[in-house]
Amino acid sequence: MVVPLVSEKEWANRLDGTPLWVPEGKPTIVVVPHPDDETLAVGGLIATLRAMDAEVTVVAVTDGEHAYIENEGLAEIRKKEQTRALARLGVAEQKIVRLGLTDSDVAAHEEELVARLGTLIRAETQVFAPWAGDFHPDHEACARAAVLVSRAVGATLISYFFWTWHRGTVATVDGLDLCRFPLSEETLRAKGEALAYHASQLRHEPEPEILPENLLWPARMSYELFAL
Ligand SMILES: [Zn+2]
Repeated sequence: MVVPLVSEKEWANRLDGTPLWVPEGKPTIVVVPHPDDETLAVGGLIATLRAMDAEVTVVAVTDGEHAYIENEGLAEIRKKEQTRALARLGVAEQKIVRLGLTDSDVAAHEEELVARLGTLIRAETQVFAPWAGDFHPDHEACARAAVLVSRAVGATLISYFFWTWHRGTVATVDGLDLCRFPLSEETLRAKGEALAYHASQLRHEPEPEILPENLLWPARMSYELFAL
């Protein structure tokens, strides 16, 4: 159970004045450690890019099979949830590249991740990946791999956040070139509906759910935060 160090209100005070930004409608690759990160952190961005008719490919790095101790069939459930969520955000199943790396052990497969990303990322691609300090080893491994490949080919890399909002403090993001992408009502609605598809993370018996209500406010904010 994660007890956030900083309240939603305190984060809002820190983040509300962040400079505004809008994405370019370029070919996009979103590197997603676990099913649900695509919705929680970048759901509005994905829906907006798709509405602009930009090509969006989602690299689903793990199937999130270790979210719970009792996890029989969980990978299949979470893949379906993610596919449905992405459909709601405008991404067809054919645009999901599933790597099937081991959940909670991405760092042990980082070379493979780099190699797979190397086949997908081009100089003209904009890449969205977790921030390198996002307080989860899988997120951090995805960040390292995305940075390495993006730099090697000259692609634009933009970082996103999720666990930082719950495990970091407001000082954690000091010094980052943060930007704020405001979401339309329609986009927020799509994001909310996509989140509801991740039912396995929102309720789980008898173990506590991964995403209790108190961790969901960043996914419901009227904007998404990125580091350029
Ligand atoms: Zn994650």
